[in-house]
Amino acid sequence: MNKTILPLVRKNIAALTPYSTARDEYTGPVGIFLDANESPYENGYNRYPDPHQKALKEQISHLKGLPVENIFLGNGSDEAIDLVFRVFCNPGEDNVVAISPSYGMYGVAAAINDVSVRNVPLDADFGLPVEKLLAACDGRTKAIFLCSPNNPSGNAFEISLLESVLDRFPGIVVVDEAYVDFSAKGSLVPQVTRRSNLIVLQTLSKAWGMAGLRLGMAFSSAEIVRYLSMVKYPYNISRAVMEKVTALLREPVADRVATIVAERDRLAALLVDFPGVEKVYPSDANFLLVKTSDADALYGYLLSRGIIVRNRTRVPGCAGCLRLTVGLPEENRRLEEALAEWTNQ
Ligand code: PMP
Repeated sequence: MNKTILPLVRKNIAALTPYSTARDEYTGPVGIFLDANESPYENGYNRYPDPHQKALKEQISHLKGLPVENIFLGNGSDEAIDLVFRVFCNPGEDNVVAISPSYGMYGVAAAINDVSVRNVPLDADFGLPVEKLLAACDGRTKAIFLCSPNNPSGNAFEISLLESVLDRFPGIVVVDEAYVDFSAKGSLVPQVTRRSNLIVLQTLSKAWGMAGLRLGMAFSSAEIVRYLSMVKYPYNISRAVMEKVTALLREPVADRVATIVAERDRLAALLVDFPGVEKVYPSDANFLLVKTSDADALYGYLLSRGIIVRNRTRVPGCAGCLRLTVGLPEENRRLEEALAEWTNQ
């Protein structure tokens, strides 16, 4: 379904003349570059990178089966999250609706941009509360933030439920699929070419193992990609990052992902039997949310054994919970040993 995007865009952004880089103005053959005040001495990095990231976008286009015009690249998906606020939300006026608990950066980016967030608690067992989400929206709600598989609960929502939010909400729907490569429930990426209000976020930080490089992707309608691109810093992805990402994307990660998924399921089955573990939530991601009888004590004990996990006990809806990232098989075994010793104390 196609919805009109322009009325959702902040007026100052719709009217923006974006920075035009030195090389935007001429694309023909050039032998001598005296246009960008760079150093003329070659060291591999003396020239500015391509602000449109054409080569990398083409590589990602092949990988995802999506036209280049539907791809935005950012300094991590965190950049795209921030840009959604900067493009669509008038500070001090507009609001967004988000699920809770979910990824903390939606709230942080909202606060930085002086936009209020209406947090809607997930249903029992972290189900998607479609009606409550829609009821939380008003005329100033510019976007709904969903995350599937959700962090920290780990579960992915059925595609049909996400579609019902997309069908019924007239604003922007952001679906953060940072962990989608670990999930069997599918992706909304194939729908971005026919749903103008959908933004799907993915990242190379998780399954692709490139968290240190900072490369996030927003897949959306060509119109939204244009707005995000107008507002980003011209050279938001460095030449070094593009080179390294291009090389690493050629190395398949399917085997590693399969190992992580198998380890996740093995750990989930085994953790439920540990005394002190009250519940292991089903996960479609590379981590497990585990409800314990005393999260602070177990967190401190694991730290004393040199194992750091994420203590989520103070997150609304996650009382007693630790979030455990699935590591290498031998790391997971060390976690098991530590837990066994904890329960024998
Ligand atoms: N979305 C979710 C749901 C995440 O959990 C994270 C990182 N923990 C991100 C986005 C950020 O990813 P990036 O490294 O691409 O900024």
